[in-house]
Amino acid sequence: MSANKIDSEREYECHKCWVKLDKKEVETFGPNVIIDVCPKCNGIWLDKNELGKLLKDKKLDKYLTKHIGTKSRSPMVCPRCGMTMDIEKAEDIEVDVCLNCGGVWLDKGELEKLKEKSEEGFKGDELAKFEELEEERLYKSKNSALNKFFRKFTR
Ligand SMILES: [Zn+2]
Ligand SMILES: [Zn+2]
Repeated sequence: MSANKIDSEREYECHKCWVKLDKKEVETFGPNVIIDVCPKCNGIWLDKNELGKLLKDKKLDKYLTKHIGTKSRSPMVCPRCGMTMDIEKAEDIEVDVCLNCGGVWLDKGELEKLKEKSEEGFKGDELAKFEELEEERLYKSKNSALNKFFRKFTR
C-alpha cells in the first residue's frame, strides 16, 4: 500500500447506498476523465474540474462550483473529504457541491440534464447567486477582521 496514492485511485462510497463507487472512464476530447459511479443508484461523483471537462461548458461548471457561499443546505457529507456540501441549482436541476473540495454529486440522469441545459445555452441566474456571493463576502471580511484582531496580540 503506497502512501501517496493518487486521487484517481481513491475509492469513494455512495452516501445513499453505502456501496463502493465503480470507476468509469469517460471519453472526452481532451484526456479521458475517470468518474465514480454508484452501481446501485447510478449516482455520479465528480472531483473538482471534472464536471467542466464532461460538460465542456466552463460557464455552467463555474456557475455550479464557484462562489457557492458558506452555508450548507445539503444533508450530504462529501465522500471525498467528509466536509459539508451545499445544493446548487441550474434552474430545475439541483446538484450537491462540496463547500471544501469542490467535488460534485450528481443523481442519476442529472449529467444528461446538465448537458441539455448547456446545449440550450444556459446563462446562469446572477440574482440567485447574489445571496451566496454576499455570504462569501461577509465570511471573508469577518475572517480578515479576526486576523487583524489576533495580529494585535501576537505582535
Ligand atoms: Zn448509490
Ligand atoms: Zn469535499
